[in-house]
Amino acid sequence: MRLESIELTNFRNIRSLSLEAAPGVNVIYGENAQGKTNLTEAIWMFTGAKSFRGAKDKEMVRFGESSCKSEIQFASALREQTAKIEIFSADTASGFAEEKRSKQVSLNGVTLDSASELAGQFYAVVFSPAHLSLVREGPAVRRKFLDTAIGQIMPRYEHYLREYQRILTQRNALLKDLERFPQLSQTLEIWDESFAKAAAAVTFCRARYVSRIQPLASAVYDGISSGKEKFELSYQCGIKQPHEKTKDYMKEFFMRELKETYRGDIERGATLCGPHRDDLELLVNGMPMRLYGSQGQQRSGVLALKMAECSMVEEVTSETPVVLLDDVMSELDAGRRDYLLNHLENRQVFVTCCDDESFRGLKQGKSFLIHGGELVRTGDFA
Ligand code: ATP
Ligand code: MG
Repeated sequence: MRLESIELTNFRNIRSLSLEAAPGVNVIYGENAQGKTNLTEAIWMFTGAKSFRGAKDKEMVRFGESSCKSEIQFASALREQTAKIEIFSADTASGFAEEKRSKQVSLNGVTLDSASELAGQFYAVVFSPAHLSLVREGPAVRRKFLDTAIGQIMPRYEHYLREYQRILTQRNALLKDLERFPQLSQTLEIWDESFAKAAAAVTFCRARYVSRIQPLASAVYDGISSGKEKFELSYQCGIKQPHEKTKDYMKEFFMRELKETYRGDIERGATLCGPHRDDLELLVNGMPMRLYGSQGQQRSGVLALKMAECSMVEEVTSETPVVLLDDVMSELDAGRRDYLLNHLENRQVFVTCCDDESFRGLKQGKSFLIHGGELVRTGDFA
């Protein structure tokens, strides 16, 4: 997958910008608050996913303007394509009969019903400092990472997950009622069977996924750290070597767990076992990264995870996602920067940074200086 060019009009602080990208590394640099993240965000919008900074559509429209437009030309394995997104600010949109008309998306000149239809056309992975929460925060963030990443390459997984959540909610509601209606305990047994089955389906997919990205992430981390550190992932679901176990084994495991946590479940009115309590542990040199990793190690860890996610998309779709690295250079030493700039082979990369010092070692690619939302200088590295 290759982004060839992008054209923006009234997109956040960018009044008008047109950029021809290099097939390899593209460095977007400039001082703080000049529009680097905005440009990255504009590219990301074409994946059909939500903004990586949690922004709403109308926030993309430049202050005081009624609409913004972005257009890209990109090449996938099969063909050249054009995608266009136009967003109308709330004031203008209220004039439309339907809310969804506030955003118009088209692919190769054909209007799409929604931006989510772009998913599967333009692939990208993004790293922004907000993703450091993957290392720094609690397990829920890492479960969400796993769930999104798996869902992306295995749509069936989303069904498993929804089914599990539905059963979990029902079971928890039942547990809360048990105190007042003890006769419901028989109903609980029926739910336990479905719970164990659904829990096994989710755990099975997560365990397989982690075992597949583990070597990929380790290899990337090895490259970033020039082989000085060892990075590992460990899926914590209560089962030892979970990727070697069958779904039936896992179902039996959860049936046993439910028996063990029965009293506690009733006391708390909540289910104490199951994949809603799992974690994906990130280890550097055998130690938990969350507790012992340095800033640079934590960044490298998240990057390794993201690049592994990228390789998995590649395996399944035969498309190499465009890599968007926002603000990753700060806190990385020269060796680690060199890896990102010169060793992510066969991938198109967009990387933002504040000064030209950060990409001094760039061997091949292009640089774009952004000032006040304008592209003021382009550099070629060959
Ligand atoms: P940093 O190096 O600090 O990350 P940046 O170059 O990535 O900076 P951006 O996040 O791209 O900066 O934002 C640049 C500017 O865009 C900010 O000053 C912000 O106020 C402005 N901005 C954001 N949304 C809009 C909008 N809808 N209209 C006009 N300006 C906007
Ligand atoms: Mg920024």
